[in-house]
Amino acid sequence: MTKIMTTDLQDKYIGTLIGCASGDALGMPIEGWKRTQIKRYVGRVTQFMDPVIIKDDRTGLRFLKDEDGPLKCYTEDLVSGEFTDDTILTVALAESIVACSGLDIFDVGARQLGAYEAQRQPDGSVKGGFGRTTHQGIENLRRGISPLESGVIGGPGNAPAMKISPIGLYMHARGKYDEGLVFAEQVGRITHLDPRSLAGGVVQAHGVYSVLQGISRDDFVHSLADVCLRYEKLVTPEFPLYQRGSLLSRLEWIREHQNVSAQEAHEELRSSSEAFCSHAFALFMFQKYWDDPIEGMIETVNYGGDCDTTGAIFGALCGAKYGMIFPEKWVNGLLEKDKLIKLGEQMYQL
Ligand SMILES: [Mg+2]
Repeated sequence: MTKIMTTDLQDKYIGTLIGCASGDALGMPIEGWKRTQIKRYVGRVTQFMDPVIIKDDRTGLRFLKDEDGPLKCYTEDLVSGEFTDDTILTVALAESIVACSGLDIFDVGARQLGAYEAQRQPDGSVKGGFGRTTHQGIENLRRGISPLESGVIGGPGNAPAMKISPIGLYMHARGKYDEGLVFAEQVGRITHLDPRSLAGGVVQAHGVYSVLQGISRDDFVHSLADVCLRYEKLVTPEFPLYQRGSLLSRLEWIREHQNVSAQEAHEELRSSSEAFCSHAFALFMFQKYWDDPIEGMIETVNYGGDCDTTGAIFGALCGAKYGMIFPEKWVNGLLEKDKLIKLGEQMYQL
């Protein structure tokens, strides 16, 4: 078990960004795989790796699926310790807050577009595993549409939650809780219009803020549903998968089932990229492993699904709560470690 130390506040700001990047890089090689597939081909993921591509020993041909389903690879052009869209957009948001010394949606939009375009390859593709709805929203920005109107109705993805942790840091640094929640929703709206995605961003910003404030486990679990209730708009039939329900219903489930096993929670919540699955599952796991966060983070990633994002969401919360408790191998293995540490220091100076 990893030793938990008391750390100062700046360490927690840095830890939030390093945690996001570490969880992201941990899940990156096996994003989209099922738990059984991870076990079969990798064992247990505890360290960063290059993307895993499974080939037939005899023919050298790639396996695109097995008896448990597809064996996707969203990030085969990345290497060990490299992070994906989750952290790329988190960094863009943190850089905006630092540069503006506050919250400016137009600057955030410009920087998200810039970060996205920086990943564009000579063949026109964009590296980093960006989701479809994010592609569409950012494409709207590229066409000159305002970040206030660029969002689209797409899948109810978890992208607003995965990139929002710097808003939680801002809320804490400046003591501007309500302003931060409103802005978290606006940032989500740059790409997503689904109420569950937007509420996810708000809930995650609240989560980061509240663990920095030293909230107890029970209060944390209750507060997630309370905040979601205030911010999640009605999920009407114009939204894909509307019949699958709200993020609120999932957070209420967690409140009622705080102590069930991780496996039971995964059977109920799942870890696909929908906000009401993967975000809810990452939040369940964070509260479940409240006192053993590194084990919890590894376990969360090894449940598979959208596991770079469940890792990033868990890791940001873990860093905000405990600071830089991450294994040295992770921190030193991150390709952009120094940039993230500097950014954490700058966020703290706000
Ligand atoms: Mg990703």
